[in-house]
Amino acid sequence: MMNANTEPKTLQQAIVYFADPDNCLNYLVARRWPDGVTCPRCGSENVTFMASRRVWQCKTRHPKSQFSIKVGTIFEDSPISLDKWLCAMWMLANCKNGNSSWELHRTLGVTQKSAWFMLQRIRLALQGEDSGKLSGQVEVDETYIGGLARNMHRDVRERRIQGTGGKGKIAVMGLLERNGKVRAKVINDATQLTLHAEVRSNVAAGAELFTDGWKSYSGLHQDYVHQVIDHAEKYVDGQIHTNGIENFWSLLKRGLKGTYVSVEPFHLFRYLDEQTFRFNNRLANDSHRFNLAVTQIVGKRLTYAEVTGKARQSSH
Ligand SMILES: [Zn+2]
Repeated sequence: MMNANTEPKTLQQAIVYFADPDNCLNYLVARRWPDGVTCPRCGSENVTFMASRRVWQCKTRHPKSQFSIKVGTIFEDSPISLDKWLCAMWMLANCKNGNSSWELHRTLGVTQKSAWFMLQRIRLALQGEDSGKLSGQVEVDETYIGGLARNMHRDVRERRIQGTGGKGKIAVMGLLERNGKVRAKVINDATQLTLHAEVRSNVAAGAELFTDGWKSYSGLHQDYVHQVIDHAEKYVDGQIHTNGIENFWSLLKRGLKGTYVSVEPFHLFRYLDEQTFRFNNRLANDSHRFNLAVTQIVGKRLTYAEVTGKARQSSH
């Protein structure tokens, strides 16, 4: 069946390899059902493959007893062929700055609207599960995305005064375990209540915390070894800095500005998931990152109504 040596290592190889529908199927089956195909509806192993249509028939009597590889994955109900899906996944898993729906539209020959929907579904697959709490040395910071004309001085001033990054901006909190993983999420505000709750639910007590001098971080010293770098004075003091999470912010913002132009607040978390996936797997090579993304397609569905927030439409 599958030979690891023949599996694609580059985008060019992926395009050639996945042009064969059987290669698509075999690649996915090997990852989804390493111990043999089971019915996604009832879990039965008693299934037969109908090669001419590339679907399985479950022998148990129940509705929808025939199923394709797409059933129960982010591909469910999509008329787009797997070669296009897998190339899109390869690109999003591996392109540092992400891919816009316009770029994907031109590359794959699907409509821009389809491309946008594909990208949102792939981002759902890239969404990792936070397992356990961060520990050791953890950098914590917030940043602000979007909004009206940028004015860094005003943004910084407003953060100091109100804990916001200025009008129309979305606050994002990031927590990075040094030499480990990053977590990033949209937060309602940068108040002490919000930031402390996030720190406590994501970082193990006793860990070393590194933050800047923002007042909302004060009071964490009871449960953590909290070290503060005052950016008004300097950016690094030995181990005390937030350069790791700052690096993540710059990657995130480069992608958002360069590739996506504008992202609605409602959708921002998906871009965070995408950038987090690439960052947390930055030491893997392209084929490993793609492989990991493929292992995360199961059990995730996203309808157009869900992805757009019901009636909303988007054009980026
Ligand atoms: Zn079944």
